[in-house]
Amino acid sequence: MKLCLIPGDGIGREVVPVAAAALQRLLPAVQLQQADAGWECFVRTGQALPDATLARARECGAVLFGAVSSPARKVEGYRSPIVALRRELNAYANLRPTCTLPIAGARQDVDMLIVRENTEDLYIGEEQRDGDTAIAIKRITAAASRRVARAACETLLARGMHRLVIVHKANIMPLTDGLFRDCCREVAQSYPQIEVSELLVDTAAYQLARAPQQFQALVAPNLYGDILSDLAAAHGGGLGLAASLNQGDAGVAIAEPVHGSAPDIAGQGVANPVAALLSVALLLRHTWQRPDEAQRLEHAVRDTLAAGIATPDVAGAAGVSTAAFAQALLARL
Ligand code: ATP
Ligand code: MG
Repeated sequence: MKLCLIPGDGIGREVVPVAAAALQRLLPAVQLQQADAGWECFVRTGQALPDATLARARECGAVLFGAVSSPARKVEGYRSPIVALRRELNAYANLRPTCTLPIAGARQDVDMLIVRENTEDLYIGEEQRDGDTAIAIKRITAAASRRVARAACETLLARGMHRLVIVHKANIMPLTDGLFRDCCREVAQSYPQIEVSELLVDTAAYQLARAPQQFQALVAPNLYGDILSDLAAAHGGGLGLAASLNQGDAGVAIAEPVHGSAPDIAGQGVANPVAALLSVALLLRHTWQRPDEAQRLEHAVRDTLAAGIATPDVAGAAGVSTAAFAQALLARL
């Protein structure tokens, strides 16, 4: 097994080494390969996602991506490398779980998964402006809807769950969202053990904010999935803890903490590595089919947090440094 490490910018460089060290402790045979991408890489080389990085990512099949900064203003030639990387590796399903962790103030009994379609919908970048009118194209295809539905069903079962909610707004967009809904229903029919229901996206948002404990898994088109998964992350204790995995076919995956490069705390040695660690656990469980190692990593994270060891974003003034957290975690592994 090979893993391409792309730390990127800001706190990406502080959390990726911790997750890589944990992985190496669990599976010493994994080959780790470093690669460069992001804003500082662009400033230095003129490329945000160098060809060598893309080649290395393709060769490894699996990537751990830290975070990249984006300049506040649009800069000619710079495009976010994570979007390009997801497209190049065809990592079409974004898995975003939220689970209650042992930290003060966490919402209790939440254990849910949002599966977000990663390749189409309003994110295809087809916008037009004609005078005072602007139009964006929303593209939904049966193929992309079916494959994300299949990923949702498989992941749901792998997590030992059986209830799936399809999120859409087919009452307003019967052709696009209606197609997504119908394809999800069709795919779910070949999984008789899964109980399928549907919610309009506005109702889903309300129910997610009100009582997240009722959900096991939701599958949604790109935009709704983006918004709802940020809402769900708030129940899990914040961005420092929110993990994700972009998954494609045939073992391709990009493990990626949900947070960005956090320039306000970068370089201070206090970034929370839990989101990156739990992203690696997702890779172990769902891509590499190593549930035992995934569980060992998740337990070590929980045990460390339960012992009151956490970075300042979670523990406030009692918070410890990234290095101290890493040391406590590695000792538990
Ligand atoms: P970017 O433009 O790269 O997305 P951002 O300013 O939006 O950067 P995020 O990383 O998205 O920053 O997160 C918002 C805030 O949440 C950060 O400024 C930081 O204070 C906090 N935060 C996010 N991730 C972490 C983490 N892993 N550890 C500690 N604090 C974090
Ligand atoms: Mg951000």
